[in-house]
Amino acid sequence: MKVLVTGGAGFIGSHYVRTALSGPRSAEVAELVVLDKFTYAGNPANLDPVADDPRLRVVPGDVADAEVVDPLVAAADVVVHFAAETHVDRSIAGGADFVRTNVAGTQVLLEAAARRGVEKFVHVSTDEVYGSIPRGSWTEDSPLEPNSPYSASKASSDLLVRAYGRTHGVPVCTTRCSNNYGPYQFPEKVVPLFVTTLLDGGTVPLYGDGANVRDWLHVDDHCRGIDLVVRSGRPGEVYNIGGGTELTNSELTARVLDALGADWSRVRHVPDRPGHDLRYSVDCRKIRDELGYAPVHDFATGLADTVRWYRERTDWWRPLLAA
Ligand code: NAD
Repeated sequence: MKVLVTGGAGFIGSHYVRTALSGPRSAEVAELVVLDKFTYAGNPANLDPVADDPRLRVVPGDVADAEVVDPLVAAADVVVHFAAETHVDRSIAGGADFVRTNVAGTQVLLEAAARRGVEKFVHVSTDEVYGSIPRGSWTEDSPLEPNSPYSASKASSDLLVRAYGRTHGVPVCTTRCSNNYGPYQFPEKVVPLFVTTLLDGGTVPLYGDGANVRDWLHVDDHCRGIDLVVRSGRPGEVYNIGGGTELTNSELTARVLDALGADWSRVRHVPDRPGHDLRYSVDCRKIRDELGYAPVHDFATGLADTVRWYRERTDWWRPLLAA
């Protein structure tokens, strides 16, 4: 199998690449090309553990650049599309890059897939496209009601994926996952932000009253779900991925404080994010029943492992804070 992974130098994409090249089914991968623009979030060091694998080729480039994308898609059997601008706060400060990469970039990839033909195109999306749900959980048929420029750009890309499947017959699948945590996550996102700040002796910012609820899933469980969809997902289908641990932001903060032996004096309350979704929750019965998906990492152990990783890998995150 020849795989093109966009955004493969980011947090989740690099976990997918490392696992694809060194995990239990790595023998099935003949060639793996990473296409990454190396924005602030793309880090060559994320691929260090597999850098010497002769099957890996890293192409610096933009998914919105058709000249770069076209030959890479033509040579691939499977496209796994992670590349995106991903930080909600940055999208509130300015949405242009989000539309360019997440919407236009996805369209360029789909156009190449339609013309060149691929066996599978897996689009990695987010539960944030559904909006906010006070109780219950979204199924894959729930309406898309995004509330931030980030989630709106992802919802737009989901619709383009659907359209290229319906109109051009591209064998597309979309995954919509809940919040990920784990090693190699850029320290602007809440878990690594809190962990690195506490390790450095600082105080962490908690939005509003801390009542916002998120479902936390280990990045390894997310990538396992994506891999199931790559191999066995039905073309044209959307699969929710989640089923981790639902926590309010206050509960998450308490867990992180606990894992670092810190107390609430290290927390400062800051005004809520505009348009902050109260609760996300995905119904994951479809991927469980069709593809046999189940998360295997329990949150307490996963968080402890993640904290240990950040404690040991200051060489990885300190330069990112300075940049
Ligand atoms: P990330 O920000 O860590 O990494 C994004 C990667 O994309 C970086 O390597 C960056 O350099 C690259 N990139 C950005 N613009 C590009 C462009 N124009 N061309 C090529 N490469 C470009 O993101 P992540 O957290 O790893 O998320 C990966 C995907 O998973 C995203 O599509 C995101 O929407 C989705 N997702 C993330 C989460 C989460 O909790 N982090 C949850 C659900 C879904």
